[in-house]
Amino acid sequence: MLSLYADFHIHSPYSRATSKAMLLPNLVESSKSAGLKILGTGDILDSRWREYLKNHLVEEDEGIYTYKKDDSLFFVPTGEVEDNEGIHHLLLLPSISSGEDLASELEKSMEKTIKQYGGRPIIPLKGSELVEIVHRYNGLIGPAHAFTPFKSIFRSNRYRKLSGSYLNQSIKIDFVELGLSADSNMADRIKELWNYTFLTNSDSHSPHPSKIGRECNLISLNTITFDEIRFAIKNIKGRKIEKNIGLDPRLGKYYSSFCFKCRRTVKFVENVNALYDEKNIYFEKADEHVIIKSVIEKNVRCPVCRGLVKSGVNNRIKSLATTKERNKQRVEYINIVPLVEIIATILGIKGTNTKTVLKEYNNLTSNVDNEIKILTTTPIETIKKENKVVGEIIDKMRTNQLEINEGGGGIYGKLLLP
Ligand SMILES: [Zn+2]
Ligand SMILES: [Zn+2]
Repeated sequence: MLSLYADFHIHSPYSRATSKAMLLPNLVESSKSAGLKILGTGDILDSRWREYLKNHLVEEDEGIYTYKKDDSLFFVPTGEVEDNEGIHHLLLLPSISSGEDLASELEKSMEKTIKQYGGRPIIPLKGSELVEIVHRYNGLIGPAHAFTPFKSIFRSNRYRKLSGSYLNQSIKIDFVELGLSADSNMADRIKELWNYTFLTNSDSHSPHPSKIGRECNLISLNTITFDEIRFAIKNIKGRKIEKNIGLDPRLGKYYSSFCFKCRRTVKFVENVNALYDEKNIYFEKADEHVIIKSVIEKNVRCPVCRGLVKSGVNNRIKSLATTKERNKQRVEYINIVPLVEIIATILGIKGTNTKTVLKEYNNLTSNVDNEIKILTTTPIETIKKENKVVGEIIDKMRTNQLEINEGGGGIYGKLLLP
């Protein structure tokens, strides 16, 4: 059995707000340092991206492709669509040509062409209809970033159950993608989700090391084919998703509730002395329950700008929770902080995309191990030999002792050093 790291959700340069550098050589390079073996192509419904992929990839095995100039990374066709209720769904497809056929079938339901939307098209169909169509093409489908305040199935004022979008097809969806601001423990508060495999994917819009593989899945399969990936996601024939690796949810940019207008994030603290400052609005910890409920009912306004307070992922899940039991069947979820973020914080540098940070990232990933291994399994002493402070922080991360300033309102959380 092979155990490989896979990231199924990225976007091409044809999606909105994505980097022009999302091209195969860069994707292969970043995946290598990250330690990924399988990467979704993203945007498989976009004909321009498909054309590029067809020109530069070769089919290695059924539904699995490699880059002509470097065959170390395996690509599987994936894409994302938005439905008629503003809900995003992630798709995995058994070949590039099935992406082509699916795109032309979906286009029949549209007035526009898929191309006019860019990589992530808006299809005027309900979630349930998308499941039926994607399954006819032998693809896999599930809700993308299921809890984010925008474009997700479980956002406030949308659905409390999968059947809201998927109707009688909800038992047939293949997985639930957690999104950057949630983890398994949080999502398993909703008992309905116990029946589904969780996927953790990066949703990368850039090939930068802080993005590619920032969330991924440890997948066990016999050989690398689309069918084996299907078995693993469906958890059959001994193939499975062994572990989920994902950002510490507090680092996610939609973790905390926030003011829709000024984007200050909501913090619950003991003994509030100021109602707000530059970045936050404060409420009494003791009132958390009541406030969350009012936020969901759209009854809380920002004390600064009177904007409506919107529910972040943490509060949203608490409001959807149906159980306090632990799901003992759920595979391990490993919380990580991207290596570049750790390096930048130690060096006191604001951006993770600077020369000094990347130099140390390249040093560690070429001399110690790939990033995922460094973050999760490489012996701490081995890391310390190359960089003592990085080793110490990772030690703290693995034992859940990191302090993090929670993200929210579109701003990522921040690692705080002791
Ligand atoms: Zn999305
Ligand atoms: Zn405000």
